Amino acid sequence: MIRFLKIFFILFINIPIYAQSEYIYILGNTQDAGMPHIGCKHKFCLDNFTKYEEFYVTSIAVINSDLNKYILFEATPDITYQLNHIKNNIFQEFLLPEAIYITHGHIGHYTGLMYFGREALGSKNLLVKVLPKMSNFLKTNGPWNQLVNLNNIQIQNTDFDESYLELNNIHITPIKVPHRDEYSETAGYIITGKNKKALFIPDIDKWEKWDKKLIDLAKDFDYLLLDATFYDSKEINRDISEIPHPLVSETLNLLDSLSDEEKRKVYFIHMNHTNPMLDPDSDLSKSVTNKGFNIARLGQKLYL
Ligand SMILES: [Zn+2]
Ligand SMILES: [Zn+2]
Repeated sequence: MIRFLKIFFILFINIPIYAQSEYIYILGNTQDAGMPHIGCKHKFCLDNFTKYEEFYVTSIAVINSDLNKYILFEATPDITYQLNHIKNNIFQEFLLPEAIYITHGHIGHYTGLMYFGREALGSKNLLVKVLPKMSNFLKTNGPWNQLVNLNNIQIQNTDFDESYLELNNIHITPIKVPHRDEYSETAGYIITGKNKKALFIPDIDKWEKWDKKLIDLAKDFDYLLLDATFYDSKEINRDISEIPHPLVSETLNLLDSLSDEEKRKVYFIHMNHTNPMLDPDSDLSKSVTNKGFNIARLGQKLYL
């Protein structure tokens, strides 16, 4: 009977009956510049100047609660708050990650590294895993090279399509993603656990520019954390072709034929302050989730 119940829970409700120790934890869901956005006058930004605790720049942690250890994806400008959030909600003590993986050299994805330097935490040999161009960028430009020279961080080079073992059971594989590569190449990450496989793509130019088909990925993976910078092209008063992203409206169309179960794998992340999906109470958030898709929110756990 107990065995039957376990199978029932795992198959039909998708909730582990016993606590699973490895999971992805959502630490932030905004575009690089965060929420509120500098100089913005729209109501949602203004409201959030006084309650800055729900929205952090896009980042995820992979946690093994048995080991009491985690790895981090991205070092965001909100990292001080994000590591404090992990302390308060997961470990009950301040712990540094075993390693930090970074996707690319745009401000929301790596500048939090500065808080590990001499003026701030002064960490010792904190492992930062990056692709070769990003590695070179950090080693040859101030202030990042000071972190390297003082051994606050220790850079380890990774390569696309190679797999790296973390936290005993988790395999991390960087994959190449088309994006504005001013300072570095851009990576997405495949995160493979004992039972489930996730894809983390916070920034990509357009799905059509990629050699992979999004609809096929939705079949292959259990979780897809996808770039949702803009819902549609009317959101900003700028030439959107200078800052290309797949519009969420386009992504929804591409994935329209998926089954309900497959749509549930999708978690939209990396939302610009202009994207109403950031506000859980907006009509647009409701319409996206009513279609069966998920929107990444701080504190969500995706079991691996
Ligand atoms: Zn970004
Ligand atoms: Zn705003």
